[in-house]
Amino acid sequence: TTVSNDAALLPAVRSFLSSPKQLLIAGDWVDAADGKTFGTINPSSEEELVRVSQASATDVDRAVKAARTAFEAGSPWSKMSPRERSHLLWRIGDLIDERAEEFAQLESLDNGKSLASARGDVGVAAELFRYFAGWATKMEGTTIPMSVPGRDFHAYTRREPIGVVAGIVPWNFPLTMACFKVIPAITAGNTVVLKPAEQTPLTALRLGELLLEAGVPAGVVNVLPGYGDAGAALVDHAGVDKVAFTGSTEVGKKIAAGASKNLKKVSLELGGKAPNIIFDDADLDAAIAGAALAGYFNEGQCCVNGSRLYVQRGVFDQVVEGVAAAAKAITVGDAFDPATTMGPLVSQEQHEKVMGYVRGAVADGATLTAGSPDPAKDRGYFFSPTLITDVTEDMAVQTDEIFGPVITAIPFDTEDEVVAAANNTVYGLAAGVWSKDLGTAHRVGGKLRAGTVWLNTWHADDVTLPRGGYKQSGWGRELGSFGLDDYTELKTVIAELR
Ligand code: NAD
Repeated sequence: TTVSNDAALLPAVRSFLSSPKQLLIAGDWVDAADGKTFGTINPSSEEELVRVSQASATDVDRAVKAARTAFEAGSPWSKMSPRERSHLLWRIGDLIDERAEEFAQLESLDNGKSLASARGDVGVAAELFRYFAGWATKMEGTTIPMSVPGRDFHAYTRREPIGVVAGIVPWNFPLTMACFKVIPAITAGNTVVLKPAEQTPLTALRLGELLLEAGVPAGVVNVLPGYGDAGAALVDHAGVDKVAFTGSTEVGKKIAAGASKNLKKVSLELGGKAPNIIFDDADLDAAIAGAALAGYFNEGQCCVNGSRLYVQRGVFDQVVEGVAAAAKAITVGDAFDPATTMGPLVSQEQHEKVMGYVRGAVADGATLTAGSPDPAKDRGYFFSPTLITDVTEDMAVQTDEIFGPVITAIPFDTEDEVVAAANNTVYGLAAGVWSKDLGTAHRVGGKLRAGTVWLNTWHADDVTLPRGGYKQSGWGRELGSFGLDDYTELKTVIAELR
């Protein structure tokens, strides 16, 4: 076998990995039209887990047509009532809970995150189905008064599905990102072609199996593992009505440009470089633990990773010492080892990228307060949590999204100064403030240009809360009640009462 920790694997996981994975199109599991496959790698062992069919433009065309057929008036999906959709969504949530450990093992093997972390993600996925199950019956419109002298009207609005949605997602939270796209889309009655990231296709494929088992009609959700070319073919396809993308800002710009050819609806959840500001009146124990969590959770591979730490000068040394100690207390190891609190990075490419930034910072004169410039590496894409000081605002490590467990720390003196520094970025996804003074926390939070602001906490979250980016961190908002707006068209109906 190719799996590093085979003994710990559930029989269901072993069985899933024992045969090559195919594409899900129109309710059938099929090979890619050109027969191409790729290997998905276990980042803890660098071994191939299983071969996966690799979608090309021909498969994209097949899947979009299947999604269109499933959407059309008269299809089983179009005839399903909101209540039936609601029950179906709830059932899928329960099925995920029943298979939670199986999903967690697959996620951990494919992505490298620790099993504990993967279990948390699977719980979120199940809860997302149940949260949106509630919305399926609450897609309401409004009646609106109309005033035309001498005539009588009845005007109202309806929320209708957009049509075929292409969901294109990254590798950092493979299952939950797939759910972020699929669930609101089908809650609103759309159909979907989902393209998981090439690094982590497995849980999206397992989800596809579960959706069929739960009774989602054929063609409503199609799953196409593949590379960027398959994503680009989806963006180009005239049969796609909306593109919902999570990933890098660089690719997000290509998607916006590609989708503009047919003026498809687009929502974009992109990169970040979140500032985390600690004032000297903060609860320092909580702030230090929070800063480490902000920077290191999920191996730092989070869009809302608190990568830029700003600390008021009087407590700078104390906070740096505390975060460095927290970094050193993290156990980096095989994702399946119960002692592991940080797994490997997702891929060799990601490992080289993160390493490059750290080496670059050291070459530019920054100080490595925690982490090592060249982690000893036998096998596996492991990377020690890193804290860098003596950083200047123009260093690449400070300006670019690194997407690894790397925090830079810079001291500040005044509120105005730190707000200006925090906002001096093209990104605007998340930000945080630590202060016991309510006035300071809320005032500074209000000045930060970011879609999510955490006060005296980080990564605290719920499926009920909308999220998204200011500036180049994206377009639109996901989850919560706002998250459905991007998956519906609003129709205004005007009737004259004659
Ligand atoms: P990426 O942009 O390289 O890839 C994301 C997806 O897009 C993958 O499925 C990939 O195959 C596909 N893709 C690549 N090129 C494409 C193209 N030209 N056309 C269409 N699709 C294409 O991102 P990644 O490296 O997988 O993920 C990391 C990035 O995702 C980071 O920038 C991170 O901040 C971002 N992210 C954002 C959020 C958020 O909610 N804002 C959440 C998670 C990750």
